[in-house]
This record gives sequence, C-alpha cells and structure tokens, in this order.
Amino acid sequence: MSHPHIAIVGAGPSGCYVADALGRKLPAVRIDIFDRLPTPFGLVRGGVAPDHQGTKNIARQFERTLGKDGVRFLGNVAVGRDISYEELKAAYDVVVITTGALADRRLGIPGEDLDGVYGSGAFVSWYNGIPDGRELDPKIGASVAIIGNGNVALDIARLLGKTPEELAASDLCTHARVAFAAAPVRDIWLIGRRGPVEASFTTAELSEFGELARVATLVDPAQLPAAVPETLPDEQKKLAGKNLDVLHAYAAKGEQGEQADRPLRLHFVFNAAPLKILGEGRARELVLEKTRVDNGRAVMSGETFTIPADTVIGAIGYRSTPFPGLPFDEARGIVANDQGRVEPGVYTAGWCKRGPQGVVPANRADSLAVAELILSDLANVTSGAKQGAVAVDALLQLRGVQPVDFAGWQKINAAETAAAQTAGDGRPREKLTRLPELLAAAHT
Ligand code: NAP
Repeated sequence: MSHPHIAIVGAGPSGCYVADALGRKLPAVRIDIFDRLPTPFGLVRGGVAPDHQGTKNIARQFERTLGKDGVRFLGNVAVGRDISYEELKAAYDVVVITTGALADRRLGIPGEDLDGVYGSGAFVSWYNGIPDGRELDPKIGASVAIIGNGNVALDIARLLGKTPEELAASDLCTHARVAFAAAPVRDIWLIGRRGPVEASFTTAELSEFGELARVATLVDPAQLPAAVPETLPDEQKKLAGKNLDVLHAYAAKGEQGEQADRPLRLHFVFNAAPLKILGEGRARELVLEKTRVDNGRAVMSGETFTIPADTVIGAIGYRSTPFPGLPFDEARGIVANDQGRVEPGVYTAGWCKRGPQGVVPANRADSLAVAELILSDLANVTSGAKQGAVAVDALLQLRGVQPVDFAGWQKINAAETAAAQTAGDGRPREKLTRLPELLAAAHT
C-alpha cells in the first residue's frame, strides 16, 4: 500500500522514531501522532532529569520529525477518553502504540500509603512539571529513603543533593526548585535489595555524586566485594567493575577529611529488602531485612534493621497503562504483543512493548525493528479503504476536542523559552506546568 494512514499513540521517543522510520520509507504516508499531553517528546520532557540537558538534545531531531509533510501532531487527545481504540482501528490502516510505562510499580509493603511515601513516577512527574503530577506537593523530610538501585533512584538522589547553584542551569520547574531549596534533607539512603554488583546504575550517573558540593558519599566497605565475580557475562562484568571502582573510591573517603563537614549524607545501602514503613499518618521509619545474593537472586536472612525515613520514594520500575480494548499482559504490565505485533494492523514499540528498560538510543533500535515489521506487513496489503484524518477529525470536532497541533507546541515552546530568558539565570526553559496554561499558550 503506497498511501497508508498511520496512527501513532504516544509522541515520546519510540513514537517519534517509528514515525521517522516510516516517513523515510513511505514518502506518501500520512501519520497522525496522538498524545494525551499538549506537549510532545514523552520522557525526554517528563522523565529525563532536568540537569541532564545533553540527553534532551534529541528533542531537536524529534521536532524535525513532527514538522515533516504528511506528519501531524495531535496533542491533548487521549485515546480511551477523546477517541476510542476501536475508532482508531476503524480509521487507520496501521495503529502503533508507543505510550510508554507511566504507572509506578508498587512496593507492596505495609505503610506504603502513609503520607510522605511516593512512587518515583509520581515524584519525577511532579518535579518535571507534567500537569497530572503537578499537585503532588511531596513532603520532603530530613531523612529520605530511596528504594531501588537503578538510574531513576540516582536521578532523584542527585537532584535532592544538588545545591540551588548546581541546579541553576537545569530546566527544573520553579515549584520544585523552591521545594528542594526549602527541604531539610540531611540524609539520603539509596537502598538496593541486591548487592553493588547487581545494581543497574550506569557509571557516569554514579560518578556524578563525587562532584557535588554538599554531598558526602558514604559506603560501608564491608558491603563491597574486592572484585566482580569472573562468572558474570562480559557486558555486566564491565559495567559492574566500573561501578565497583566508583563505590570503592566513595568508601575510601569515609566520614572524615573532606567529607566531614558536608551537610548532606548519601548512604549506599546494599543487600537490604524493604519490609514495612512505620509511622502514624506520616512515614517515620523504614524496616529492612538483610539479604544475600544467591544465583543472582536476593535471599532473605531473617535479620532486620531500621533506618529513619520521613520520606520514602519507591524507584522500582513502572507498568504501562492500557486503554479499553487494548490487548494487555497484566502480569508483565505491558501491551500484549509478539515481537511488536499486537493484532492485525496494530503494533507496539518502546517501554509499553518490552517493559521499562533502556535509555533513549535503545528505543531507537526497537522502533526501527517495529517499523520494518510494519513495512513488510504493508507490502502484502493492496488497497486501503480507511479514511485516516478525515474520520478522526470529524469525531474530535463532534466531541468538542481541540487538539494541540505542531504549531501549538511551537507556541508553548516559545513561551517557555521566553520565560527563561526573563528569569535570566541560565535555565533553558521555564515550563508551563498546568493544563489551562499550556492550552492557552498553544491556542493564542
Ligand atoms: P531499573 O534500572 O530497572 O531499576 C529498578 C531497581 O528497583 C532495581 O535495583 C531493582 O532491583 C529494584 N526493585 C525492583 N523491585 C523491587 C522491590 N520490590 N523491592 C526493592 N527493590 C526493587 O529501573 P529504573 O531506575 O526505573 O530505570 C528505568 C530505565 O530508565 C533503565 O533502563 C534506566 O537505565 C533508564 N534511565 C536512564 C537514565 C540515565 O541514563 N541517566 C536515567 C533514568 C532512567 P533488582 O535489580 O533486584 O530487581
């Protein structure tokens, strides 16, 4: 089919990569990219840490994709609310689901619903100014426990650890800047249920703590093996070896010397699984059980200990959220699929296809593979009777839904960068964080 109508649901990296790949191979394709938010780029805007501006440069490439002939951005249109999955399938020859993984996995321990306990997705959405996370107003106390040994846990610890000056050139939203600056944090506990060798930190992110002005990095040397086990696969051995070097260097600093006067102490705690959160209304303490790693798995020891924690953040991964009718694998929290195929004419790519793993470039490879699959399936389809945009625009108009198009996003972008220039302190943008503000900027 030479002129297929394609809908992509989710304008994050995976959706943009699929659109780009299909556009290159099918010059006459018409692609509509939907997003529930008025803003595109998914995790690049709403997940990537605001002090990692280099990672966000990829948005320029995605801008070019959204601005291409034959590609439309339809922001502020939620599938399942404004248009149904069945209606999309009826209107488009191909539907690609790239909605990511937005819901926090739960810790599943007593005390999880106490005040002061948050999932990393909610916390990150709040500081990154995503409208539906904007009102979280987290209670950040003196002792913050972050559960999980992945890069999201490191992002949160680093942002809490940085001084206002160190955050100046980030695009951290003003409401979060104010909250972080006022937070009385003295201790941050980074808790892994397995050991340092099993942590999924990347070394560049782990190393950043060594450069922070007010943070003392504290590791009990007894928790660090001298070397990485020879039995590990090469790739893991290399990563774990580099991480171990950084952790040994942190352990060597100890609590004295240059670290003695640092007001904020970052404690790496390994081999500790969360058991329960204690408190009356508000979190007060976290009870942990010591573990050992056996064949790669955490084995409980029966020995417990407690740390003070008036804020607890679970950074233990995410699940995707289905809309009605979408085949869904409840156990894995992903869209049910076979190598990216969901059902005839429907595909999926990115975190909602394979779970929340991998940095932005890993999603590129995945999206390209799914685009190839779509192209090979389309080669066997001769004629298309689908109406694409004509059908969907009529439905949206009937329902009074006003999408934010690419020009609308450019207006939001211009308003945010202009506001940053007014602030004049080096921040690249001052995000609009509430839906009415975003829609007003888009529709001026
Ligand atoms: P992650 O890397 O999968 O880490 C999740 C952590 O949570 C693991 O340490 C895991 O331990 C732990 N965990 C899971 N269930 C647990 C439980 N019930 N109790 C205690 N601990 C539990 O996930 P992530 O940090 O959310 O990151 C998601 C992806 O985004 C990763 O690919 C990451 O690299 C990427 N990312 C990259 C950057 C960056 O490059 N700067 C920044 C942020 C995120 P086990 O290993 O024992 O399961």
